[in-house]
Amino acid sequence: MDALLERLRAGLPAEALITDPDVTPSYAHDMASFCDAGTPAVVVLPRSVEEVQHVMRTATALRVPVVPQGARTGLSGAANASDGCIVLSLVKMDRILEISPVDRIAVVEPGVVNATLSRAVGELGLYYPPDPSSWEMCTIGGNIGTASGGLCCVKYGVTAEYVLGLEVVLADGRLLNTGRRTAKGVAGYDLTRLFVGSEGSLGIVVKAVLALRPRPPRQLVLAAEFPSAAAACDAVCRIMERGHTPSLLELMDRTTVRAVNAMASMGLPESTEALLLCAFDTPDPAADLAAVGELCKASGATEVVPADDVAESELLLQARRSALPALETVKSATMIDDVCVPRSRLGAMIEGTAAIAEKFGLTIGVCAHAGDGNTHPVVCFDHTDPDESRRARASFDEIMALGLELGGTITGEHGVGVLKKEWLARELGEVGLELQRGIKSAFDPLGLLNPGKLF
Ligand SMILES: Cc1cc2nc3c(=O)[nH]c(=O)nc-3n(C[C@H](O)[C@H](O)[C@H](O)COP(=O)(O)OP(=O)(O)OC[C@H]3O[C@@H](n4cnc5c(N)ncnc54)[C@H](O)[C@@H]3O)c2cc1C
Repeated sequence: MDALLERLRAGLPAEALITDPDVTPSYAHDMASFCDAGTPAVVVLPRSVEEVQHVMRTATALRVPVVPQGARTGLSGAANASDGCIVLSLVKMDRILEISPVDRIAVVEPGVVNATLSRAVGELGLYYPPDPSSWEMCTIGGNIGTASGGLCCVKYGVTAEYVLGLEVVLADGRLLNTGRRTAKGVAGYDLTRLFVGSEGSLGIVVKAVLALRPRPPRQLVLAAEFPSAAAACDAVCRIMERGHTPSLLELMDRTTVRAVNAMASMGLPESTEALLLCAFDTPDPAADLAAVGELCKASGATEVVPADDVAESELLLQARRSALPALETVKSATMIDDVCVPRSRLGAMIEGTAAIAEKFGLTIGVCAHAGDGNTHPVVCFDHTDPDESRRARASFDEIMALGLELGGTITGEHGVGVLKKEWLARELGEVGLELQRGIKSAFDPLGLLNPGKLF
């Protein structure tokens, strides 16, 4: 420990190091429940690429594990500390280095908060689409680490679609440049894409070149009430089948709607079994919403209410963004699943989840990025009751099994981390897992980067 601190201090200013044992444990966890975390030896908050390189050289020389962190809003334990590790928090590297309207790119440090970037490019008439509901807190480095999605993915895609190039400090301190800042480029293997979603296991992202789009018109939202989740899923299929391109297509079940009302008095319709929110940012959103409204009615919607204006639309979006925090208030604990299925199987996924809730005698609220087939079943339970906790874990696992059975994936956007590492092997298969392990050891032969995550 003394040798580690001495070597770190040799290349870092005093304020970049936190060693106080009363403070370092506060960096142990991200926001996932029930994921093991160790106690860090030290927390480092670098401000430059050179400082990150110094940390990684030190870690390699002394064989100390390193856990990169952004804002720790992750929901899979992927940023959790391991015992005796260096927590490398990138939040102080938070400069937007360049915004180029001609090249339609932004160059940023990893600690830039998603919403800060979105607002900065917005002022220039540009748009950075990936918008996790945690966008006011989470960082671009974390978004890249987990390949984050968000509400707009049904039209604009996920973080991976917007990362053009990266600067990465490798485990031994070398600096790697991947990708490009050009509109096209196919030179060599796509290492940039490999880093997206790698959960801090391959290198430390210290700079990112991100693609921007022209800012679309403000979106208008429609809310449709359904007598069952199956009817709402039927509407989702009709909307996509008819070739519509909504900028948002989200579903909240009855439990979620009630939880949001209870937490934030949003005035959502409590009698509904499922509420579908659909938005368009097209030149004539009202016309698109009218067409979608008819499709919702054909699927059995009992009420279809287009928002009158942008302000009312924003309220509905706020309601959707508060779904996860609201479900967290239903019981003393939650386990948030993140299963993504082909859109055509969304109804089967949601009905199957309801059957799992009944089987285990639990409350499981579902909110979903319905247009992506990405469901977030939230298992709500009393963590002081051992039997209920056991049933919660079992139901969480059955939800993932159901997702795989329906041709889906165990995680659409939250990542594997600690929470789902037992399940990764099932999804990848033996050959896939072996190759992924080989890739990990090519980048990190000593296994120092974020150990215990993914595999
Ligand atoms: C209320 C709430 C709503 C959410 N909504 C969404 C949503 O809609 N969509 C979604 O996808 N997620 C969502 N999340 C999950 C979370 O916000 C995202 O996963 C986010 O991308 C994490 O960013 P972060 O800065 O907090 O990263 P962290 O949690 O700190 O880290 C995430 C991963 O990235 C790695 N990492 C961080 N920085 C770097 C770096 N510079 N170099 C290498 N690796 C790095 C970490 O090691 C870890 O593996 C939500 C979370 C909450 C609490």
